[in-house]
Amino acid sequence: YSSVAHPIFDEQGDFNGVVVLFYDISDLKKYENLQKEFFSNVSHELKTPISAIKGCSEILLNGGLKDQAICEEFLTIIQNENLRIERLVKDLLLINRYEHDQIKHQTQRLEVNYLLNDCIQNVQTIANLKHQTIDFVEEKKYWVEGDYTKLQHCFLNLLTNAIHYSPDETQIQIKVSEKSTFIEISVIDHGIGIPPEDLPHIFERFYRVDKARSRHTGGTGLGLSIVASIIEAHHGAIQVQSELNKGSCFTVQLPKLLK
Ligand code: ADP
Repeated sequence: YSSVAHPIFDEQGDFNGVVVLFYDISDLKKYENLQKEFFSNVSHELKTPISAIKGCSEILLNGGLKDQAICEEFLTIIQNENLRIERLVKDLLLINRYEHDQIKHQTQRLEVNYLLNDCIQNVQTIANLKHQTIDFVEEKKYWVEGDYTKLQHCFLNLLTNAIHYSPDETQIQIKVSEKSTFIEISVIDHGIGIPPEDLPHIFERFYRVDKARSRHTGGTGLGLSIVASIIEAHHGAIQVQSELNKGSCFTVQLPKLLK
């Protein structure tokens, strides 16, 4: 608790007493702690690629430039670490925008199959590189209300994760079904899966199951937390089921529009 004391004076201006107000600041403290944790995570995430870039540049400038193989190796590291910083900054800007945006202002009626086909087309090239197929059978048209760009961002993220965290030549499926009040969209992969102890945390900011594995794929650990906040802003829900070395299924529920 925090307290503030106010003196009280009577009509003649004589001191008459004190009113002490107590404020419950536990929510504020919690918010401050979250903010501190966020900044310390961001700094940590930036520190690693920055020192890698520094180290590589030093090696190149201290004689490494004379050796073609060393040049290629260290310039590739510099390029990759630079991409990491770029991705991190992009995700941080998205978090900032989504948290301060009034999602209501950009909502429109949108057709789910159209949105999903658009997302599939966007990731098709990276799926092709891994000889993966994306299987999606349209049954009927489903309508939801939402912000097209933000929902597109969600499904692109789920699809990109499914591709990244699955071996070559596997199949990714998208299933859409209709429930009483919502539309359910599942992205299913047959990839590496998520250990049960990590499942409750994967929607948290900066959470990665295996840092080395995620680093290899260039992830920031922010993707799913952004997806969850977008779905929440659409009054929807997101769930995950996963089995290690079998695959994962991410299910998004969005309120249904009748027509
Ligand atoms: P990242 O940028 O690291 O991919 P995300 O927030 O998108 O971060 O995901 C958090 C973590 O959840 C990832 O590091 C990864 O370990 C795990 N994950 C997400 N999607 C999948 C998936 N389809 N299969 C296996 N693991 C996944």
